[in-house]
This record gives sequence, C-alpha cells and structure tokens, in this order.
Amino acid sequence: MKLYNTLTRQTEEFVPHEAGKVGMYTCGPTVYNFAHIGNLRTYLMEDVLEKYLRYAGYEVKRVMNITDIGHLSDDADSGEDKMLLGAKREHKSVLELAKFYTDAFFADCEKLNIKRPDVVQPATGCVEEFIRVISELEKKGFAYKAGGNVYFDTSKVRQYHVFFNFKEDDLEEGVREGVDKDENKRNKNDFVLWFTKSKFEDQALKWDSPWGVGYPGWHIECSCIAMKNLGEYVDIHCGGIDNVFPHHTNEIAQSEAYLGHPWCKYWFHVLHLNTSGGKMSKSSGGFLTLSKLQEEGRSPMEYRFFCLLSHYRKSLVYSEDTFENAANAYRKLKSRALAVPAEGEIDAAAFKQYKERFCEAMDADLNTSSAITVLYDVLKAKELNGATKRALVSDFDRVLSLDLLKEEEKAAPAAGLSDAEIEEKIAARAAAKKAKNYAEADRIRAELAQQGIVLTDTPSGTTFARK
Ligand code: AMP
Ligand code: ZN
Repeated sequence: MKLYNTLTRQTEEFVPHEAGKVGMYTCGPTVYNFAHIGNLRTYLMEDVLEKYLRYAGYEVKRVMNITDIGHLSDDADSGEDKMLLGAKREHKSVLELAKFYTDAFFADCEKLNIKRPDVVQPATGCVEEFIRVISELEKKGFAYKAGGNVYFDTSKVRQYHVFFNFKEDDLEEGVREGVDKDENKRNKNDFVLWFTKSKFEDQALKWDSPWGVGYPGWHIECSCIAMKNLGEYVDIHCGGIDNVFPHHTNEIAQSEAYLGHPWCKYWFHVLHLNTSGGKMSKSSGGFLTLSKLQEEGRSPMEYRFFCLLSHYRKSLVYSEDTFENAANAYRKLKSRALAVPAEGEIDAAAFKQYKERFCEAMDADLNTSSAITVLYDVLKAKELNGATKRALVSDFDRVLSLDLLKEEEKAAPAAGLSDAEIEEKIAARAAAKKAKNYAEADRIRAELAQQGIVLTDTPSGTTFARK
C-alpha cells in the first residue's frame, strides 16, 4: 500500500515496524463542545484507513486520546483553557463537561459507522505517566523551569522543524495576534510541558508534581499516551492538517528526545472541511454538527458518502448543493445495491478481479473515490450475477461502511404524530432545557427530526413544521 507521508512529503510504500502489525495513533477530540462535521471528516477518513489496513490483513491497534485537560484557547502557551471556558459557559464541572462531550462524540461516531479505537484514553487518567516522562526529559537536559512552568527546550533537538523547512524567522512562534509573548521561554518555539498554579488561578483540575501543583501541557498528552499503549515505535500517527504545527512537531521533538531514537514513521493528515465562508472551527462557534444535519433531514450515511467521494488530501467545501448531489447519489446507489437479487453462485474469478481493482484504488494513497467507481462498475457489470455483485458490495463495505445492503428500519410507530402530540414533545423539550438537561432536549429534537418534524426556536417560543 502506498501512503502520502507528511514527514517526507512523498507517497511511500507502507512498511510497518513489525511485519503484519500496525500501531496507529489518532489525536482525539478536545471535549469542550460538540464535534463539528469538519472534525468528523478527519475521524471518518482515519476510520477508512484503519479499516482498509485490517482488510488488507494487518493486525491493527489504534489508540486515541481524549483531551480533557490542557488545551488552550490559543495554540500559544497562553490564553485561556478551553475546558474551563466551556465549563463556565455550561455551568458544569470540567469533568461533567468532558463526559458529556465525549459521549456526544462517540454517539456521532457510531452514527457515522466510525469504529471506536481499541484504546481510548482521557488525558486525566494518565497524569502520573506525564510526570514520569517530563521528569526524564528534565534529567536528560531537554526541559527547564521558568516562571513556575516547565518548558521543553527546542534548541536541544537536532532538527526541530521536521515537517517543513521553515526558516526560523518566518515563524511567528505559534503566537497569534492579541496574545502576549511568553517571556519565560528561552527559544521562541519552546512549549510548556507542565503548568503550575502560577498560571490560571482558577484552573479546575490540578495535580501535585515535582514542580508544584499544576497540570500538563497539551502536546505531552499525545506523546505519553501513544508511547504507553504502542511502545517505542508508532507506525502511523493521524490528525487534521492543522495539527502539523505546532502539535505534531512538538510531539516528535519530545518523544524522540525521551526515546533517543526515531519514533513515528508515517504521518497521515486529513485536509480541512471548509464552508464557502472559510474554515470550520470549534472555537468560532459558527459550525455545523451532525445533529444539525440530521435536523435538516440529512442522514449520517449521506455525510459519510459525501466525504468518501473526495480524496482526504484535498480540502473539501461543504455547500448545500454539493451535499445534495452526494446525498442523492448515495440514495440511488443504495437502492441499486439493495435491488440486486441474491441469485446464482458466487463467481470466484470475477470476485477476485473486482476485488483487485478495489485494492488498487485503495492502495494508491487511499483513493476512496476511485474505489467507489469500482463499486459502480460492479453494479452495472453485465457479466456478473446477483450473488457475485452482492458479495462484492458487502466485501467493499467492510472498508467503506456505507450500510449499502442494510435494509432501512420500518418507520417508527410514532411517525404520524398529531399536532397536540408534537406540542407535548415541544413542552417536554422546553422543560428539559430549563432543567439544563440539554442531552434530553437534543434527543427530543432529533426524535422529531427523524419523523420529518423540524423545530425552530423563536423569541416567543418553539414552532414546528412538517417536511
Ligand atoms: P479538536 O477537537 O479541535 O482537537 O480537533 C479534532 C480533530 O479535528 C483534529 O485532528 C483536528 O486537526 C481536526 N480538525 C479541526 N478542524 C477541522 C476541519 N475544519 N476539517 C477537518 N478536520 C478538522
Ligand atoms: Zn495529539
């Protein structure tokens, strides 16, 4: 299989460290808000990669962190803690907030047929490990204390900018406008490994450490969680393209400083999903969630298909029109697949031939749109009987996970709700909201949306429309 490696900027043959086995690490979500459909594009394409590796015969172990501490509102080592801001906004404790959004994240993944990684590790469960690794980095001379924090000294690594040949002076040290420079740093790219109470007096979660009461920086979480669960070598490290710098650059610097040898060979990055108005981002507030799409009558499988039609290394623009086209195409594709009669014996030679074409597409840097073309070719092939077609569709769907042969469940018995019944549900939702039970309120909205009943909140109350 050939994969594009951001580290070498080349498409390379994938050769894992240990034959037949793949250690895969995924940067997980920061759980202070719902995932937007851009985040989900990244997880969805990583899911396809994982499934294809398994399909190709590898034994895969996939690990994901949950960032429930230490992710700042800015990538610089200053700014406010996102978790804390979220907790204040929603009148929850930081742990309640993390649990709520972690559950919401996996509920979205389930709807999109994104497999849960083998190991899911919240950062709050690994603090001892962070302290151990930071202490070791300090012993080896890669870390220093300043202003109450512990920093990684980027001048001590042979090559810091591993991904691109940045000129040092071109980099604005990951600090954005309006954020003060951190005067404690010895070098402009140095980053915090451990914050002490000198930062964020109101920090909710803090732990005792050799450097004082505090909490870990974001980057050290991923290095430690990956090393703890995958050992000294990671085969593929995944994330969205924005993670390349500084997050993955810092992960490499500290992991290799700690291990004393190269750490991860292949870096897989998914390009962003944008709207016509620009990038979709969690902190901007103006983003689309999967539930929102469902409220508009869209299905998660349509979104999965929409993503698979494009290559993961191209940015993808979400618009009503492009989505509508993909959604229509998905519905037609599924009904064609379901209409194939299960007749005849599977033709082993023909099966093998089409399977090879599917693998050829996927082996070429995960070309999902070419793989879908092979699927269309199967469905229209005159020489294939029904049984062979069905077997191929079902085989490809082990990777694509588009539920192509899954019969839709019968409409829920409550499909024909009367106006009075809908008003009752609206009242129950309002009561749930008042009691701050937003999960229940969202559930009621989604339940109605599934029956084609769309709610609109207005200053004078909630109205509904049937679609
Ligand atoms: P976060 O929860 O903000 O840490 O992001 C979770 C994942 O989504 C990371 O791998 C990000 O790189 C990725 N990501 C963020 N924004 C986008 C976007 N607009 N499109 C695709 N992936 C994104
Ligand atoms: Zn990470």
